[in-house]
Amino acid sequence: MVISSHTKEEVFNILSVIPDPEIPVVNIFEMGMLRDVLISDKGYEIILTPTYSGCPAMGVIEQDIKMALAANGVFPVTVNLVYDPAWTTDWMSEVAKQKLKIYGIAPPLHSSCNQDIFANNIIKCPRCQSGDTVLLSRFGSTACKSLYKCNDCKEPFEYFKCH
Ligand SMILES: [Zn+2]
Repeated sequence: MVISSHTKEEVFNILSVIPDPEIPVVNIFEMGMLRDVLISDKGYEIILTPTYSGCPAMGVIEQDIKMALAANGVFPVTVNLVYDPAWTTDWMSEVAKQKLKIYGIAPPLHSSCNQDIFANNIIKCPRCQSGDTVLLSRFGSTACKSLYKCNDCKEPFEYFKCH
C-alpha cells in the first residue's frame, strides 16, 4: 500500500486548525476531541472522540478532517470515532475555555456535573462577569448549552454545560 510520508506532528498541525463547527473560534485539538494520530502500514488513523453524542457536528468534523488531509496530500486516512472513554469538559484546554468566554459563551465550571445547574452554582456572565444571572432554558441553540440571561447587562448568553 502506498502511504504518503507525513509525520505525526505534521498531521496534528494540519488537523489542529479545524474548527469546532458549533464554536468556530475553538479548534478540535483545543476542545480535546482530537485524541491521537496513529501511523501504520495501513496509513493514517485519526482517533476522534465526539463531545456530545447528540450534537450533529461530528459528521461535519469527519468531513473536514478528510478534506484537510486530502488537500495536504496525506493518504490513506481513516477516521475512527472512539466513545470510550467518553469525552468530558475536562479535556477542553484552558485556551479553549478562554476563547469560549471571549466568544460570549460561559465555559463549563467543572466536569461530570450534570447537577451544576441544580446545585445553585453561579454561572457568571461572560460579558460583564456579573454573577447575577438567571437560567432561561436548560437547552440553548444545542443540547450542549443552556441559555442564561444576565440581570446586569441584560444580555442573554449561553453556558457550555459540564459533561
Ligand atoms: Zn452581563
